Amino acid sequence: MAQLTVDIGGSPGINCRGYCEYCYFRKVRGVQPLGCRYCLPFKKGCDYCTRGVKEEYSGFKDLKTIADETLANLQTKQGDLSRVTISGGGDPSCYPRFCELIELLGSMDAPLHIGYTSGKGWDDPKIADLLIENGLSEISFTVFATDPELRTKYMHDPTPGASLAILEKLCGAVDVYAAAVVLPGVNDGDVLEDTCRWLQERGAKGLILMRFANNADQGLILGNGPVMETQNVQSAESFRDLITDLSKKFTMKISGTPLWDPELGSPFAIRHEPDLIAKLPRVLRRASVISGSIATPFIGTILSACGSKVPVVPVKKEIACLITADDIRTLDLSVLEPSVIIPGRAFIHDAEAEEILSRDGTKRSVIRGPDMLTADAETSMGMTREQVLEMEMDGFTRLIWTINQFGNE
Ligand code: SF4
Repeated sequence: MAQLTVDIGGSPGINCRGYCEYCYFRKVRGVQPLGCRYCLPFKKGCDYCTRGVKEEYSGFKDLKTIADETLANLQTKQGDLSRVTISGGGDPSCYPRFCELIELLGSMDAPLHIGYTSGKGWDDPKIADLLIENGLSEISFTVFATDPELRTKYMHDPTPGASLAILEKLCGAVDVYAAAVVLPGVNDGDVLEDTCRWLQERGAKGLILMRFANNADQGLILGNGPVMETQNVQSAESFRDLITDLSKKFTMKISGTPLWDPELGSPFAIRHEPDLIAKLPRVLRRASVISGSIATPFIGTILSACGSKVPVVPVKKEIACLITADDIRTLDLSVLEPSVIIPGRAFIHDAEAEEILSRDGTKRSVIRGPDMLTADAETSMGMTREQVLEMEMDGFTRLIWTINQFGNE
């Protein structure tokens, strides 16, 4: 069964009816490319880490371009379509010819999936009927809070009543995964419990909560912090405890990122599965694995259970996939082995990483590890525990192969 992704273009904030107060793109300015896994060996900066990360497109594509591209993509697919996903840098609800877009995609008779919307572009509750009639099957909807005033104040939703009416109707008809960035003192506490209750009563499939990040160590890149000058932030541990408490109070699935999915035990659900860990390859060589500060203890536990004698080295940044050159500059080089493995998706140019990590006169080679070792809540929502474990087995097998291939005796 084939799947089709329809890219409608657009840029966050610019094609979102203005920035939400907490939007990570709000303060991104024209910064230098960071370097990444797609860059050529001799050139720092490629299209992905220069424009793709910032989701910098020139605006929404016009409907004719979308139709032409969709038709061209369709011709490369074989068999029935199992899903059509609408994606893009801008918010689909703000697409100017949204009704025509949905009718066009609905004519393909495949389940429609909206990967992300805030709903703040929709002003008419009838949009819900249009979506249902045209085969919408799944939507990820940023609710922030079901208090309309908070949606207006923090998301700048001009018609929160209409957006919530659409959300309500969709909850009863299709798979709705709601999402919210949690701003302590704004939409947590009673407001958050009210939001959970509202969603659960109306039939939402789940709620993904995102810990708000306001500085580089918490995961901001592109020099865009602080996003909100005076906003409090939560530690990853206190956020994990919030998720645990909520998931006990509600039957609807509630998970959080960076931590955690209580139903599946992820990220790193494999740590509770000694039989699976025993099936992983043994670590036979020495290499330093660098990771974010949240993942480091988990990865360390699993690798040492597989025979590694080398500690995993954390940078200060909490999120491994968002590690940049600045994060590895502050590492104590004396603890590093001659072979260093960085996260596959780290935003560093390999040659620059080698230069930084060889500053003490010891030549170190830098190798990229697997792209993913586990599933965060955004990935695990909709996955089974078996699927998450399979993903983790695959990630750790690749990591250990990399250590055994490039590490030292
Ligand atoms: S809808 Fe999403 S991408 Fe657009 S401004 Fe708000 S947070 Fe940013």
